[in-house]
Amino acid sequence: MRIILASSNKGKIAEFKAYLSGYEVLSYSEVMEPFEIEEYGKSFKENAIIKSRAVFDKLNDKNAIVLSDDSGISVPLLGGIPGIYSARFAGKEANAKKNLELLIQKLKDAGVERAKAFYTAAIALSTSEGDFSVHGWMYGEAVTNPKGSNGFGYDPMFIPKGFDKTLGELEASVKEQFSHRARALKLALILLKTLTKDRK
Ligand code: IMP
Repeated sequence: MRIILASSNKGKIAEFKAYLSGYEVLSYSEVMEPFEIEEYGKSFKENAIIKSRAVFDKLNDKNAIVLSDDSGISVPLLGGIPGIYSARFAGKEANAKKNLELLIQKLKDAGVERAKAFYTAAIALSTSEGDFSVHGWMYGEAVTNPKGSNGFGYDPMFIPKGFDKTLGELEASVKEQFSHRARALKLALILLKTLTKDRK
């Protein structure tokens, strides 16, 4: 069974391929010219579905299964920011470092050194039968003294619940056991099996 990923991010593709062993996993850019997909949704779920649906509609193959994800970090004390804007938090010129520095500054402005935070991952599947989605979460704390260089994005400032080290310091294999994406992928696998049960 062939799964098309609505992403051309190499890191994500490698992660998905590892989880979806048993399926043939391809990036959509391997089967069509990549195109800009505007993420105008108001939630992780909406944005994930916008991406998988856009690619499914362009594929013009009723047997296709397109998978996408949308993820980010939220700090409830700060009203849930950056949330769905995690990737572009620092504006037009945003990058991982600027985004992280801005979130640290927001915590400092609020007068705290740490605050509860959580990562969310929404995974969407688009098929000829419709659009489906699942979620996974990872809870912990956002801290103002970033540490370590493992992982990516906000990982150096995120301490998962039950740990005293940031995801920047923890091994990737540790994060993979309970990350928001891993948890969402577990559910996505069940969904995939159900959706493809009667297919050849
Ligand atoms: P997406 O590619 O549109 O889903 O954007 C995800 C953004 O959320 C990334 O650019 C990161 O800023 C943040 N993010 C999501 N998952 C993680 C993670 O596991 N670690 C660190 N940052 C993450």
